[in-house]
Amino acid sequence: MSDITIFPASKIITMNSYQAVATHVAVRDGRILGVGSLDDVTGWGDYVINDRFADKVLMPGLVEGHCHLWQGSIWRYHYLGYHPRVGPDGKVYEGLESIDAVSEKLVKIEAAMPDDDTPLVAWGFDPIYFGGRRMDLRDLDKVSTTRHVVVLHSNGHLLNVSRSVLAAANITSAINIDGIAKDVYGEPTGELQETAAKSMALNAIGLDYNTEASEKLSLENFGRLACQTGVTTATDLHNGLSEEFVRNLVTWTNDDDFRFRIAPAFAGISVPTDRGVARMAELVKLNNDKLRFGLVKLMTDGSIQGMTGRLRWPGYYNGAPNGIWNMSPDQIYTTVQAYHDAGYQVHIHTNGDEASEVTINAIEAALAKTPRRDHRHTLQHCQMADESQYRRMAALGIGVNVFSNHIYFWGDEHRTQTMGPDRARRANAAATAIRLGVPFAIHSDAPVTPLGPLFTAWCAVNRLTASGYLLGPNERITVAEALSAITLGAAYSLKMDQEIGSIEVGKRADFAVLEDDPTAIAPVDLKDIPVWGTVLGGRIFSARDED
Ligand SMILES: [Zn+2]
Repeated sequence: MSDITIFPASKIITMNSYQAVATHVAVRDGRILGVGSLDDVTGWGDYVINDRFADKVLMPGLVEGHCHLWQGSIWRYHYLGYHPRVGPDGKVYEGLESIDAVSEKLVKIEAAMPDDDTPLVAWGFDPIYFGGRRMDLRDLDKVSTTRHVVVLHSNGHLLNVSRSVLAAANITSAINIDGIAKDVYGEPTGELQETAAKSMALNAIGLDYNTEASEKLSLENFGRLACQTGVTTATDLHNGLSEEFVRNLVTWTNDDDFRFRIAPAFAGISVPTDRGVARMAELVKLNNDKLRFGLVKLMTDGSIQGMTGRLRWPGYYNGAPNGIWNMSPDQIYTTVQAYHDAGYQVHIHTNGDEASEVTINAIEAALAKTPRRDHRHTLQHCQMADESQYRRMAALGIGVNVFSNHIYFWGDEHRTQTMGPDRARRANAAATAIRLGVPFAIHSDAPVTPLGPLFTAWCAVNRLTASGYLLGPNERITVAEALSAITLGAAYSLKMDQEIGSIEVGKRADFAVLEDDPTAIAPVDLKDIPVWGTVLGGRIFSARDED
């Protein structure tokens, strides 16, 4: 039998500038051998035709440049989000529209639990939708005064915990750490903001959702979601990379049934930088076709909707105090310099515009000390950057991966509570980034918002909030620009554009198989295009007939 397979399609959108569309793609050894008409691709020798996609549209496999593998493990816990959400089982989990509904659900969950010491863990909670009323110990006392209860906020930056967790973590009025919320009497309220405070509680009860994400079932869940959304390459963009996590990833990515490529980013401040640099050198030796170590992730500020983002003057529209640094500005300078000097690519979380400013300054300083071309350091989220910041990023070769899904999920709240009507117009300024020549991608930050690059593209193209408000019309981008951002743009940000991101000879045969042509429909319908499944290295994965 021939080792060449030719796939005809109703249309192939290549993202390759010298041949933007085609009808046939030939695949050999998991790579693209030829693209064009049938005539163009038959010259390589014997072939078989696989016409399974004859009535479908092929795109390069979609690349999610900022998400987290715990999207695959988090469904073992209870969903408390405001918006309805589809689980990996295909079931729709209802949204909870008031803080009372959240409390009632927690009480019900607890009542159904065995009478043992299993912690109750829930996720997706977001008080910004409830007029800003925060959850506190009184709410969780109603759930249990003895069981460990942990409520993860949807932004991933905050937690609420029950009294028993505070006790186990020894968090009292006497502990003064930024991020332990306290009431007027100085007593902890149970809300823990950002890394230092959060990790006290998580470590005390042994909850490590980053490592849980590497278990086989979690990876299968993630793979199912990836297939359903056309994703063939994903990131795990902040992980301490425990020995167990690394061992699991090395094992499972070597399995033929593993249906996505994964680029985990090492949490750069989880260990001192000299140890981090040494660890990176070991990790990259473990890389294979589907596993790509080599990225470093740094956290600077917190979350804008969690009021822990760091904003420049005039600060939060609702008067909330400025947010929290996960790394101090001094630490941002020294850490960026250390990983930059060691030759690694650094992805840096910045939400508020003060965090972006400090980070741009830090990269500028690192480059002044150690000049380096094509470093591809990338600001992640960068939700409030203005034109002057984008101009500096362009001059310094800094890329951006903006959080376009925010426009839909929190655009209304940014207008009315966090940024105000003026600055919200430039939230996730995709058009400005493109116009000023900043290397550009868009993302979901799943599980913060659902994985789904076509939905993310829809957000960047239409800029409609959940209430239907058009937020910052001048920052809308074209469908072609958005499709480039979820393929080549994201691949470039991962330094993988030489092997994925377009349907082009020599690249990996990774395709998203769509039921409709995203360039032929109304832009407002982009999010509704059904995804048939994916092809990864020439191997076909259907979103429906799996397992
Ligand atoms: Zn993230």
